[in-house]
Amino acid sequence: MANKEIYRLLSGYRQFRERFYSGDDTTYSKLTSGWQGPKTLIIGCSDSRVDPAILSSASPGQLFVVRNVANLVPPFESGGGFHGVSAAIEFAVINLKVENIIILGHRQCGGIRALLFPEATQAGGFVQQWVAIAEKAKVRATQLVGTEDQNALWRQCELESIRTSLENLRLFPFVREATETRQLTLHGIYFDIENGELLELNQEAGTYSAIDL
Ligand SMILES: [Zn+2]
Repeated sequence: MANKEIYRLLSGYRQFRERFYSGDDTTYSKLTSGWQGPKTLIIGCSDSRVDPAILSSASPGQLFVVRNVANLVPPFESGGGFHGVSAAIEFAVINLKVENIIILGHRQCGGIRALLFPEATQAGGFVQQWVAIAEKAKVRATQLVGTEDQNALWRQCELESIRTSLENLRLFPFVREATETRQLTLHGIYFDIENGELLELNQEAGTYSAIDL
């Protein structure tokens, strides 16, 4: 644990501990004397620039978060396999009874770039296989903006992949049931990291508009 970066991380943890375990802040004593009760599940990208807790200035215990390459939700599959994302969705919806699920996409997503331009990543590797979940988004984006302007295609595919993840989310029987019986709401949000803007998906129209903050 001697390298500079690890030292920096530990120093950050020291600040965290001083705030939550030594001072007057009672957040963790409350959170550990009961059970966690986050109201929102966020499915975001692993990208270091788009941490949902930092973006929303969330407090400990407020968000249940799943992060993966390109913030994707796989289709519902029963049977075997190691379904980490599906397990987290199931836990959040059935056990924690979250009220909202947000798919949080973003500009300059490396996972979506790997889907569009596979030569940038290892052929047949884990990334290629994973991002294939959003193949439908690639097709839709290509139909909408063509392939000439690669940056426009990249951005459009990021937007379309949020729609694909929401479509897949609705294939989970317990998600569908919770939206019908206890008003679980599903949202698609796009963080444009280049200008700090948030866009919200209108799920009926399939269009995005800037969120007025
Ligand atoms: Zn990403």
